[in-house]
Order: sequence, then C-alpha cells, then structure tokens
Amino acid sequence: MIPADTPIWLAFLLVSAAMTVIVAVRYFLACGLFALATARVRPGLYAGMRGQIGKEIRWSMIAAFIYGAPAGIVFWLWRHHGYSLLYADFGAYPLWYLPLSVLIYLFVQDSCFYWSHRAMHGSQRLFRLAHSVHHESRPPTVWTAMSFHPVESISGAIVIPLLVFFVPIHLAMLGVVLTAATIMGVVNHMGWEIFPRRFVHSPLGQWVITASHHERHHEEYRCNFGLYFRIWDRLCGTDRGLSARLTSQREPGAPAQAKSQDKALR
Ligand SMILES: [Zn+2]
Ligand SMILES: [Zn+2]
Repeated sequence: MIPADTPIWLAFLLVSAAMTVIVAVRYFLACGLFALATARVRPGLYAGMRGQIGKEIRWSMIAAFIYGAPAGIVFWLWRHHGYSLLYADFGAYPLWYLPLSVLIYLFVQDSCFYWSHRAMHGSQRLFRLAHSVHHESRPPTVWTAMSFHPVESISGAIVIPLLVFFVPIHLAMLGVVLTAATIMGVVNHMGWEIFPRRFVHSPLGQWVITASHHERHHEEYRCNFGLYFRIWDRLCGTDRGLSARLTSQREPGAPAQAKSQDKALR
C-alpha cells in the first residue's frame, strides 16, 4: 500500500495508475473470455474484423485510464480519510439494504446513461464529437464494450465515483455493480444472444437489456438508448424492440431443424 506520508499528487498518480491497470485487466479478461465463447458458438463471426477490433482496444485503453483514475482517487480518499459513504462492515446497514443498494446504483447508472446517450444522438455536433467512435464498430464485437471517445468516457466514469458520496454501498456490493457493468457491457455487444430465447421473450426479459436489444440500437441509432433496463426507453417511447438479425439466429446448441420453430416463437 502507499505510505500515509506520500505527497498527495504522487498518491493520486499511483492509485490512478493502479486502478487503470485493474480496469484494463478486467476488460481483457471479460472480453477475452466472451471472445473465446463467440469463437466456439459462432465461429467466424468476427472474421475480417481485426482492424476494427484493434481500434476498439486502443479506444478502450484510453477509457480504462478515464474510468480508473477517478475510481482510484475516490478509493484512496475513502481508505485514508474515510471520505464517501462506502462501507466495509456488513453490520453497518441492514442486510436487506445490500441488494437494494445494488439496484439503486444500477438504476442511477442506467438513467444517466439513457439521458446522456439520447442527448448524444439528439445533436449532430455532440454525436460527432463524443459518440461516433462507439458507432464506428459496425457491427459491434465483444471488444466494443469500452470503445468510447474520451468525452463519452468521462460522462460514464464520473457517475459511480460521485454516487458513493450520496448513496451508501458496501464494498462487496460495489464489486457486484462493477462486475454486472462489465459483463453486461461485453455480452450486449457480442453480436449474438447469450440468454435463452425463453428469457428474452419472458415478462422480465421485456424490461432487461440484452444483446438483441442493444444490437438494434447499433442498427438503427435512434432507439433503444438504455444500458441495463428498458424502463426509460419504454416510458419515453424510444423502445423499438429487438434486433431481427439476432432473434432469428439459432440458439447455441439447438439443432438446425429448430429454425422454423424459432420463427413461430418470435
Ligand atoms: Zn453500444
Ligand atoms: Zn449510441
């Protein structure tokens, strides 16, 4: 750990660098794992996309620093000065608050993403400046999950470091939120649906975003702006449902002759 008498600028630099490495490693692990799954389940899906994937990884490494630096600084301020409402004692709040805090964090993150994302699609200048990088991935791949222009990365990177000053959360639950964010970001760009069709078309599936939903955003741009939930899209009339390309794909492991049944299910 960093000694307590380290000058604050050096401490900030070190924790920013450490957290950047953690975010980058997390990116490579999650993307690498789901890229392997893609190669098994949809062989050739990313064929001929090396150039695009290289760009996605480069943008993602810049994003790793933009996400890592404020997270590292806030974590250091908590560890050394007790700032923020992060807590490590399971007895500090009732146990029922643990899952509730996760839902609050996911909902706030989803709301900030929906409105900033919609704003970036609502202005040509803003789109070109901040969001066109993400849509250069056509079609997206697992590596697109963090492929953002620095301006867009900043808008996403400040949400949780700010939220820990207003909404208490246990360190382990923060880990759950960050893990969910990483996995959902990757699987929603994967180019195939990992969730069973039964779930995607279930009542719960109507409110949760999976690859079939986000893929449609990448196909049509002006709809499906949410991150985890379809609540804002549904309330604001921007939900256009699922990508026909993804929902018409055969489910992993299903026999080829099930294709006609798939159509009936849609
Ligand atoms: Zn996307
Ligand atoms: Zn977009």
